[in-house]
Amino acid sequence: MKTALVCGAGGFIGGHLVGRLKQEGYRVRGVDLKYPEFRRSPADDFVIGDLRDPALCREILDRPYDEVYQLAADMGGAGYVFSGAHDADIMSHSAAINLNVLHGCRKAGVGKVFYSSSACVYPGYNQQDPSSPLCSEDSAYPADPDSEYGWEKLFSERLYLAFRRNHGLDVRIARFHNIFGTEGAWTGGREKAPAAICRKVAEAEDRGWIEIWGDGRQTRSFLYIDECLEGVRRLMDSDLFEPVNIGSEEMVTINGLAEMVIGISGKRLSLRHIEGPLGVRGRNSDNTLIRAKLGWAPSAPLIDGLRSLYPWIRRQVEGGGGA
Ligand code: NAD
Repeated sequence: MKTALVCGAGGFIGGHLVGRLKQEGYRVRGVDLKYPEFRRSPADDFVIGDLRDPALCREILDRPYDEVYQLAADMGGAGYVFSGAHDADIMSHSAAINLNVLHGCRKAGVGKVFYSSSACVYPGYNQQDPSSPLCSEDSAYPADPDSEYGWEKLFSERLYLAFRRNHGLDVRIARFHNIFGTEGAWTGGREKAPAAICRKVAEAEDRGWIEIWGDGRQTRSFLYIDECLEGVRRLMDSDLFEPVNIGSEEMVTINGLAEMVIGISGKRLSLRHIEGPLGVRGRNSDNTLIRAKLGWAPSAPLIDGLRSLYPWIRRQVEGGGGA
């Protein structure tokens, strides 16, 4: 039986990843500051602990796991990452986690280590034009991420690559582009655009309105969690160690995203644009490299993922909960 450690197993992507690895027959240990919010983790054992603590990392990395998935980070949506109010925490907490996990993996003789980087590493200067942002992997340098969150991700990518170069650690690095789905943050300030818009639509009265940050003409792409996990597993089984995008190439405006959710809800709602933290004007995944190296790229339409997410969020809003 293959063994895996999932760091950040109480979070959105880590929680789903534990489920996927269990389905594939792995023996899984999860670690996080908290248990998953929306369902009991199917992990074989789950350690509650702080990965900023080197002693905790030594304790959990007590054996040569076949695979370690490092998803723990201090993060959230635009409201958390782009306000500037959390920059010191975002940088220092996540950098400490990555340093500890890497030293622990090296000492334990771990087979392969996966690191979850982000599209936020891409330079702001290539993402000014909402209709043609440039996010090919080789465009990350000269570096100029538009947030400290992106700078920490870039630093940690380099850290993983340095451990590969100097200590022979077998690393895989994905740059995720806006992953969304059920069982993720949907309220409280850390939620991202798809969940926030679904919540606003679910809460709105028919013939009412919802608020959108900025003019809504900023563009993004959004990838449903199932295809994200498919990409992660395929990447782990490949020999590609350089950072690669895992994202959708279906670019939409935030207004377009809101219209899709409103369409799914069946309500008649208008959009009201207000000031808010925004991030870059445009961003889209470029899947040329993943297609070439893995012979696969995400392909499911955005609307399909939203059709799964909206009813789940509506149930949360109505207090019903459930997966
Ligand atoms: P999430 O916030 O739901 O999960 C992160 C988890 O890390 C949380 O459960 C949190 O409690 C845990 N954590 C934070 N600090 C910790 C600590 N000191 N010790 C132990 N656990 C700690 O986020 P997510 O959306 O599941 O993202 C997972 C990873 O993917 C993160 O590294 C994130 O930066 C990256 N990523 C996500 C997206 C996305 O759209 N969701 C996009 C790009 C990159």
